[in-house]
Amino acid sequence: MRSVEENSPPEAGTESGVVSQTARDPHPPFTVLRPQGDPRILIICDHACNYVPPEYDNLGLPATEFHRHIAWDIGAADVTRALSDYLDAPAVLSGFSRLLIDPNRGSDDPTLVMKLSDGAIIPGNRHVSEAELSHRVTGFYQPYHDAIAERLRIARAAGIAPVLISVHSFTPVFHGHERPWHVGILWDRDARIAGPLIDALRRDPQLCVGDNAPYSGELVGDSMNRHGTNTGLAHVLIELRQDLIDTPEGARRWAKRLAGELQPILARQSAGPVGE
Ligand SMILES: [Zn+2]
Repeated sequence: MRSVEENSPPEAGTESGVVSQTARDPHPPFTVLRPQGDPRILIICDHACNYVPPEYDNLGLPATEFHRHIAWDIGAADVTRALSDYLDAPAVLSGFSRLLIDPNRGSDDPTLVMKLSDGAIIPGNRHVSEAELSHRVTGFYQPYHDAIAERLRIARAAGIAPVLISVHSFTPVFHGHERPWHVGILWDRDARIAGPLIDALRRDPQLCVGDNAPYSGELVGDSMNRHGTNTGLAHVLIELRQDLIDTPEGARRWAKRLAGELQPILARQSAGPVGE
């Protein structure tokens, strides 16, 4: 199994540590932060990374495209790391670009391997054979999802029903439209975390909070559907606008804010019957 585990220092607000790279694989398909952290919480970051292995030759795209939102969720990994610190919670981060294969899609979703993304045609994805698709699934997609499932299995074996928190980010301008939201809370059928989190964030009149905006949380086969809806675990997806978290300071500020809002909600959740 290609993986990296790291345990960051316990102090809130510090760097979560340098990834201890293995000699075998400096770019594992996932990284686990704080594996010994609070098992009542699991944070995941589907679009943490913009890495594509060199043999893909940037999928035929100019390297500059990999700094854009089409390749990853800008700032989301930094928020995830800081949130993992503040909540002392384990986190699983993807180690590959969504342009290679998108872990936040069902395995039969037509956008699993994107041919076109926000105006950019992706030449290396135009003709993906069954064998190549299978290679991307077994080499990247599946190990990432297996890592999440394994963390949940460990918690449940200890009699704990963890809360899943998924961290994403969205581009401030999409198809020429400016997006007003600072943060969006996405959910499908389970409002146990999303409902109180939206209420808490909306207490700040300065903040524009999306309720299933800028995207809907009702995507069959996505990560929350797979690991949350289908397992019955309480879950929420948090989307942050990229211009607010594209610096380490901005990411940390938002992680701290989210941790402060989430802590009482998570405490109530773990005190209820669901955690038994
Ligand atoms: Zn995302």
